Amino acid sequence: MIKTSNINEQRLWQTLMELAEIGASPNRDQGITRLSLSEEELEAKQYVIQLMKEVGLEVRMDAVGNVIGKLNGTDPLAPSVIVGSHTDTVNHGGGFDGALGVLGAIEAVRSMKEANVTLTHSIEVISFTDEEGSRFGTGYIGSKAMAGVLKEDAFELTDQNGISYREAFIKAKLDPTKYKEAVRKPEEMKAYIEMHIEQGKVLEEMDLSVGIVTDIQGPVWLEVQLEGSADHAGATPMNMRKDASLVMAEVMLDVEKTAISHQGVGTVGSLKVEPGGVNIIPGKAVFTVDLRHVDSHERQLMVKDVYLSVAKASEKRGITWTIEVKKEVDPASCSPEIVKILEESFQELQFPVAKLPCGAGHDSLIMSKLTNMGMIFVRSKDGISHNPKEWTSKGDCAAGTEVLFQSLIKLAK
Ligand SMILES: [Zn+2]
Repeated sequence: MIKTSNINEQRLWQTLMELAEIGASPNRDQGITRLSLSEEELEAKQYVIQLMKEVGLEVRMDAVGNVIGKLNGTDPLAPSVIVGSHTDTVNHGGGFDGALGVLGAIEAVRSMKEANVTLTHSIEVISFTDEEGSRFGTGYIGSKAMAGVLKEDAFELTDQNGISYREAFIKAKLDPTKYKEAVRKPEEMKAYIEMHIEQGKVLEEMDLSVGIVTDIQGPVWLEVQLEGSADHAGATPMNMRKDASLVMAEVMLDVEKTAISHQGVGTVGSLKVEPGGVNIIPGKAVFTVDLRHVDSHERQLMVKDVYLSVAKASEKRGITWTIEVKKEVDPASCSPEIVKILEESFQELQFPVAKLPCGAGHDSLIMSKLTNMGMIFVRSKDGISHNPKEWTSKGDCAAGTEVLFQSLIKLAK
């Protein structure tokens, strides 16, 4: 049995279940949908604000809608320890991705208050705006604004219904022209720490509740467009074809090869051929490539391999090509000092120390531009996330929150 003596496991679970009601589909089988700045997401933020107030934190919402609850330390000039995650979800997501990080942090500081723990540094719990990017196609809006790297053109993006980010901001009673007011200075922060569900199966296979993240892989997203000739499948001999789909097929296999040889990951997740008839040679192919690595140099080599593969296969088959970089986020390493603090907390709690890299992107990637960053991973059942079946047990949620409690005290004392 896992020892969780400082935080209140039942209370944490209750808040997770309460938040999971907001944006839940009526019979629960379609999961939870709280897209950025939607009514549901704003309601979730109100829930978080209410909870923070109950706990006695100093609560404010910044210029981009990040919710910030502060537990004041004894030295008002000392930089804050920041802890957070997000409460927006993907379409038909689960109740733990993001939510555990925010509610676990609130539970941790609540337990500190109850135990009359004295801290020198303030602790700021943050629920970031739009981590997922599901509504407008780009994420990390809240953390990017805080790090001063949010670009103004983000406000021109539109959702499926043609509503722009600017309009969504105004509807949420936020002023899009004031987004720069959310910027924070590195000297205001001592550290950023995030607890998150693993979204993979590593901890489950090791039979562990919690783990320490060492590095975060940064994704590069490419969109490849290939143009050949859509000729008749019967009347065109094999040596006279310009079949765009065959270039795609060759590149797909090369993506797997380069990912394996560089020890990264590579995925072709979306593909389309046109015109798409049983008796027509695909004249056009469009597909995406997602490449990730914890080392940006290695990742660059993978990107280069994909470009070479597209160029080579296209030349051989008489196809014209373009590649557009849709997204590029630098990988980040967790701060060795924070990894050490987490390790000490694990040892004190008698949890086995497991260290693992993180495959998905998080606000922590962006926050690492501002301050020392660390992450705690909590076991995901069957590695499933972004899905109604996403699940993390009550005991595992408590174990991660216990680590957070111990580590925050060490960072803020
Ligand atoms: Zn998340």
